[in-house]
Amino acid sequence: MKYVIPCINIFIHEKAVIRTMNTDVAVIGAGATGLFTALDLSLRGIKVTVIDRGGLINGTSGRMHGLLHSGARYVTNDLASAKQCIEENQILSRIAPHAVFDTKGLFVAVKGDDEAFIDQFVKGLDEAGIPHIEIDNALELEPNLSRDVKYAVQVPDKVVDPFKLFAGVAYSAKKNGAKFLLYAQVKKISGSKIITSRGEVESRLIINAAGPWAPRISAMHSNESKVIELMPTIGVMLVYDKRLNNMVLNRLRPPSDGDILVPYYGTSILGTTAQVVEDPDNAEIADEDIQYLIEEGSAMVPRLSELQPKRYYYSVRPLLKGSSARAATRDFEIYDEGDMLTIVGGKLTTSRLMAEKLSDLASEKLGKKSKSITANTLIPDALSFFALKNTIGDEIYGSGYALSKLEEAIQND
Ligand SMILES: Cc1cc2nc3c(=O)[nH]c(=O)nc-3n(C[C@H](O)[C@H](O)[C@H](O)COP(=O)(O)OP(=O)(O)OC[C@H]3O[C@@H](n4cnc5c(N)ncnc54)[C@H](O)[C@@H]3O)c2cc1C
Repeated sequence: MKYVIPCINIFIHEKAVIRTMNTDVAVIGAGATGLFTALDLSLRGIKVTVIDRGGLINGTSGRMHGLLHSGARYVTNDLASAKQCIEENQILSRIAPHAVFDTKGLFVAVKGDDEAFIDQFVKGLDEAGIPHIEIDNALELEPNLSRDVKYAVQVPDKVVDPFKLFAGVAYSAKKNGAKFLLYAQVKKISGSKIITSRGEVESRLIINAAGPWAPRISAMHSNESKVIELMPTIGVMLVYDKRLNNMVLNRLRPPSDGDILVPYYGTSILGTTAQVVEDPDNAEIADEDIQYLIEEGSAMVPRLSELQPKRYYYSVRPLLKGSSARAATRDFEIYDEGDMLTIVGGKLTTSRLMAEKLSDLASEKLGKKSKSITANTLIPDALSFFALKNTIGDEIYGSGYALSKLEEAIQND
């Protein structure tokens, strides 16, 4: 049996057509990368307009696993990304404490896992500067772990709520002058004019932050279009409606499927798979992928095979091309296409850094001397401003409701 679910919900809102907008920088994509770029540029005093075919974080960023990486997962095969992750983990924890939960993470090797890899892993943690402590009472801390645990080490992995984080980033960008054109699909780019389903945007510079859809935007841009080396890679996550772990549990082995169990509010989320796909809008999840994920996950947490996952979801990684999905770097690259900058690769954990590098280049292209200040700018808990409250002021938590109210507010002038 095959499950086919559209990857994102587009055009669910009827929106009025707008007049032509003029801006210095048009950012295509209101995901993690595009939103941090809008904040970075607006804090530098640059006029920026964000365009998305859906709402805020409607692509991969709203369908990620919830892990604010410490970088430990990449220390043996991708040291540069590991170092970026630990630095950004510390920065995001400082600037957005409302959206980050300091659960910590445990890497565990179980019977049958390669002993030599443990030494390599610990050496990599030292090289990347990731603080770590060996844990000898892992079963006391995590009673659902397998009795076959051979070795466990704790690292500063954390949990991130992407909705809380990026609602705040968008709100703050708006407060600093950014404009938003949401539910507006980019159809065509003609010179400096971006034609969308809701009107046109005239811009001096375009930033293509369309994640796994970036090559499509690049192909619309006729000037100096380059071949974008992107490998769209689908990943599935299973949601259990019980919290089975306190820390993020990671299998201590070379990155593979079913390795990570993230404690997310009252649930635990098992992930993920990594399979290269042709079209990010038409990806399929097979029954076998789900079964495989459960089998792999239950070697670390046996209860996963006894419980029924409540639901699953998936999304597509905008990875830089590599020899395989697992071997591909989590580093990022910026392509300079004249009056358009295209970014691919990276992680949600490193999106602030990606935006900083993009904004440095954009600012230089516009002939403006400026510096990023996002690493020291507090992100507000904007979702809570828009959440429904009961008569005594407690939040009746409905993040979907709050996000749609926030979207309305930031699109008004
Ligand atoms: C299964 C999975 C799990 C992951 N888990 C983690 C994790 O736990 N931690 C972590 O740090 N990272 C994780 N990642 C990686 C991370 O989620 C992504 O690297 C990041 O979210 C990409 O953000 P983005 O802004 O580049 O792309 P997106 O979030 O995909 O944003 C691109 C935007 O472009 C818009 N767009 C596309 N085409 C058009 C068009 N024609 N017109 C207008 N708009 C358009 C889309 O609507 C979308 O909103 C995971 C990725 C996957 C796939």
